[in-house]
Amino acid sequence: AAMRETRTKKTKTVCTFCGVGCTFEVWTKGRKILKVQPTHEGPVNAISTCVKGKFGWDFVNSKERLTTPLIRKNGQFVEASWEEALSLVASKLGSIKETYGKGSVGFISSSKITNEDNYLMQKLARQVFETNNIDNCSRYCQSPATDGLFRTVGMGGDAGTIKDIAKSGLVIIVGANPAEGHPVLATRIKRAHKYHGQKLIVADLRRNEMAERSDLFISPKQGTDQVWLMAVTKYLIDQGWHDQTFIEENVNFFDEFKEVLEKYTLDYAEQITGISKEQLMKIAEMIRDADGTCILWGMGVTQNTGGSDTSAAISNLLLATGNYRRPGAGAYPLRGHNNVQGACDMGTLPGWLPGYQHITDDEARGKFEKAYGVTIDSNPGLNNIEMLHAIAKGDMKAMYLVGEDMALVDSDANHVHEVLSSLDFFVVQDIFLSRTAQYADVVLPATPSLEKEGTFTNTERRVQRLYQVLPTLGDAKPDWWIIQEVAKHLGADWNYGHPSDIFAEMVSLSPLFKEASYDVLEGWNSFHWGSLDGKNTPLLYQDGFNFPDKKARFALSDWVEPAEFPEEYDLYINNGRMLEHFHEGNMTNKSKGIQSKVPGVFVEVSPTLSRERNLENGDLVRLKSPFGAVKLNVLITDRVKDNELYLPMNSVDKESAINFLTGPIYDTRTNTPAYKQTRVKMEVLRKGGN
Ligand code: SF4
Repeated sequence: AAMRETRTKKTKTVCTFCGVGCTFEVWTKGRKILKVQPTHEGPVNAISTCVKGKFGWDFVNSKERLTTPLIRKNGQFVEASWEEALSLVASKLGSIKETYGKGSVGFISSSKITNEDNYLMQKLARQVFETNNIDNCSRYCQSPATDGLFRTVGMGGDAGTIKDIAKSGLVIIVGANPAEGHPVLATRIKRAHKYHGQKLIVADLRRNEMAERSDLFISPKQGTDQVWLMAVTKYLIDQGWHDQTFIEENVNFFDEFKEVLEKYTLDYAEQITGISKEQLMKIAEMIRDADGTCILWGMGVTQNTGGSDTSAAISNLLLATGNYRRPGAGAYPLRGHNNVQGACDMGTLPGWLPGYQHITDDEARGKFEKAYGVTIDSNPGLNNIEMLHAIAKGDMKAMYLVGEDMALVDSDANHVHEVLSSLDFFVVQDIFLSRTAQYADVVLPATPSLEKEGTFTNTERRVQRLYQVLPTLGDAKPDWWIIQEVAKHLGADWNYGHPSDIFAEMVSLSPLFKEASYDVLEGWNSFHWGSLDGKNTPLLYQDGFNFPDKKARFALSDWVEPAEFPEEYDLYINNGRMLEHFHEGNMTNKSKGIQSKVPGVFVEVSPTLSRERNLENGDLVRLKSPFGAVKLNVLITDRVKDNELYLPMNSVDKESAINFLTGPIYDTRTNTPAYKQTRVKMEVLRKGGN
């Protein structure tokens, strides 16, 4: 054994810090990570990585890692054996189901764990607990994008590959900041823009790095993207710059769509969005002149009351101009977490079985019923937000949550904390004792990606294998193992020896993945899902759109106005990612290399506002919304304008985390919190600072 410890091992893995899905070799000796080495074989990134992928991994050896199961006894966590913890989980959850019925237990899965882990979570919910009350954290970010795409083109994924984006004549980025959120993907756009004549339009509240590089930057008023998108579409059609042939052959409801567009004149759009008519016309001209337009969007679009309808408006614009079904064109929702796409693909959604087979589809459901030996409810279950309501009402008594820091990432955090503390029984499975885990009755220690095998699916629908880089730490176990043990302790006959067994079962039930297997995915190989016959499909809709008549559909929705706030809340607060941190920072805050670069959190204030209020860098301010308050230091920057503030979302501190400000305001179609529609008032607590 001593001999082996001294040998350097190189293992392929997939990065977990964003949805781009970079791969690299990790060089290790024992538990020590020597280096992270991208290689030419990596299909997404070749030899590129960003700072997170390269340096963000120390957290795996953090002293704060959970290494043994914990059980709450008299208000305190005490260490327990796996047998003790699993028996307790099984007996409590089992008896709650017996006493209160099938819907009394809720399941929340994660977009950070593997496809195999997710598949088993939905199977645990549907087979063992006979409920569709299962969701994952894409509810907090990407569900509106998926909804908008399902309604228009019939599949909820990026239209082509990341490489295809480089072939596009025009890239439009709406409400996203790939330079910080999806760095390696952004590099491709930067290169195409700089050297290959690609044009770039950015629409964002904040003048981010991509905005700085763009040919045209617009900053519409908060919550009004749908209006300018519809006005530009109308103008394109009015000018005859749309693609009539494409529409006739490929899209339904054009006449109805034109009627909906009637009121979205340039004048109206200028008045609502604050974007001038000239700029709107310019956007239309750039789309007309481009050889292929891609539209990329992120949470600046989705986390709004009209998030789904704005996503549909993006897809409508692309359909009207014939920008689908060829490389360098189409819709690209940018998935945030590494496996947002995969978690949804695997059916950890209340209305979808694995492989996007809808729960109301009798034939699909029948197939799963046969395989699982139970009856599956044909009604969708509750989503994350509805589960919280059900707990508050006393209808849901227990919850099993994996890898998600709900207490921190959900909006209206004060309310969420109350709800979680009212559960009869709460199981949390994670690698750290997150804020959410602090409400748990049992905490099950899981392993991070470097300590397990499985597959992830990146933003371009590419499934890739990860291999075990490090031995597991302490008594921590891979998520699939834990979920299987819980099922077995409840009497289920599960016998998966390796994630490949789970993947094979998923494939056998999901036509979308028919030709995928661990052999096909061996090493650096990958597989894009995307056609109903289950073939590798890098470019979607080659054989038509995903509707029975193969035709896409214009979505017919009007603008959803942003939520209203009392007038005293006079400042808009936006929030988002920072290059160096991963989301709320639970992992990267524990990475020393990264912490030393960006230690604190701050609120960005515009030069105009700082003059008006006499603010200086470092002043301590209190921000108060109708739902809570936080304290932060001021950072004056022209990245934001007027009365708009920006708060990076990497705080885990109750004093400064954004979700102590956000409220119970949701996208109208998917219940995704409208995090971007928050207003606050500001009070100066202390002048001058560090
Ligand atoms: Fe990881 Fe995303 Fe950076 Fe690639 S771009 S190294 S996937 S964080």
